Amino acid sequence: MSMTRGTPSKVAPGGTIGILGGGQLGRMLALAAARLGLRSHIYSDTDPAPAFDVAHERTLASYEDRDALARFARQCDAITYEFENVPATAAEVLSAHTPTHPNARALAIAQDRLDEKRFVADLGLATAPFAPVSSIEEAGAAFARIGRARAVLKTRRFGYDGKGQAIVSSADEAEKAFQRFAVPCILEGFVPFAFEASVIAARAMNGQFAAYDPPENMHADHILRRSVVPGRLSADAGVAAKSIAQRIADAFDYVGVLGVELFVTGEGELIVNEIAPRVHNSGHWTLEACIVSQFEQHIRAVAGWPLGDPRRHSDAVMENLIGADAENWPALAAGPGALHLYGKREIRPGRKMGHVTYLSPRTTPASGG
Ligand code: AMP
Repeated sequence: MSMTRGTPSKVAPGGTIGILGGGQLGRMLALAAARLGLRSHIYSDTDPAPAFDVAHERTLASYEDRDALARFARQCDAITYEFENVPATAAEVLSAHTPTHPNARALAIAQDRLDEKRFVADLGLATAPFAPVSSIEEAGAAFARIGRARAVLKTRRFGYDGKGQAIVSSADEAEKAFQRFAVPCILEGFVPFAFEASVIAARAMNGQFAAYDPPENMHADHILRRSVVPGRLSADAGVAAKSIAQRIADAFDYVGVLGVELFVTGEGELIVNEIAPRVHNSGHWTLEACIVSQFEQHIRAVAGWPLGDPRRHSDAVMENLIGADAENWPALAAGPGALHLYGKREIRPGRKMGHVTYLSPRTTPASGG
C-alpha cells in the first residue's frame, strides 16, 4: 500500500498497480505506470516473464491459487489484467479485496465468443451471422442456417491468433471440425471483408471516453503483422468506429482500455469481430505517435485518473517482430524506427518478440478524441 493514499478510487503517485499476467502487454503497462510515479506488482504463473523484468514487485503463482491472489491483492491499490483468459475465480478473489478493472462481467463476456457476439448484436451493432454449436448435429444445421458458402467454426473459449478456428465449406466439414475441437463452439458466416481495422479506446471511472484513430491491420498466419494509421478507413468510418467502441464501453460500464477488432467491407460497413478487454497489439504505435499511449491511458483509467489526450501527432506504421524477425535487431536498431524488444529469452516461431514503429509527418487533419 502507498503511504500517500488518494481518494478511495484514486491511486496517488507512490501507489501500486497490480497487473495479472507477465507478457509484453504487462511489461509496457508497468513501464507506463512508472512514468506516472506509480509502482507495479506483476502476478504471473510463468518465470521468466517479460513484465517481471521491469516491475517493482513480483508474485510467481498459479492463477487458481486463492491465497496467493489474496496476498497479492492486499499489496495493491488497484488491479488490472493484461490478458483476457483470467479464471473467473481469480477475478472474484481479487475484486473482493481491491478495486479491479475491467469488471468481471466485461471479462466474462469477452472470454466467450458466443456471449460476446450476442452482446454486440444486442447493442444493434453488426456482426457476422452466427450460431451456437454444441453438438455434431448442430454443426451441420448451423452451416445450413447461416447459408454462406464458407463459414468459420471457432471454439467459444481460449482461442487466440487463429488457434481453435477452422474454415469450413460444407455441413460435413463443419461437423468434422466440431468433432476435432470437441468443446462448445460458435459457427460464423465468413465475412468477405475488404480489410481489417481496430479501434483502441479508453473509458474512465466517471464515464469519460477517449479513442485513438483506428488503424488498418494486416495479418499473416492469423498473427498481426502490421498496423497502419491512417489506413484505408475513411474519416467518416473512423468516427463510426469510435462510436462503436463507446457504445460497447458504456454498456460494459467499462474502466480501462479496450480494443474492438473490425471487418470493413467494400461498402465501408463496419462489422465487429472481437472485443479485447485490454490494451491491444494494434495500439502499440500510440507509444510514439500520441502524447498519451494506450498503456498510460489504461493505467490512468485503472488508477482513477483523468484520461489523457489520444490525438495522434504523426502517421505511424507498426511492424511486429515475430519469431526470427528479432534476430535482425542490429539492423533495426540502426534504422529509423522506434525499436521495442520484449526481453523474451527464447525465439520461437510465431512468438511476438518485439515491434518497431515508424513515424512520418501527419497527412490528414487531426480529429478530436
Ligand atoms: P479472431 O481470432 O476471431 O480475431 O480471428 C482471427 C482472424 O481470422 C481474423 O482477424 C480474420 O482475419 C479471420 N476471421 C475470423 N473470423 C472471420 C469471419 N467470420 N469471416 C472472415 N474472416 C474471419
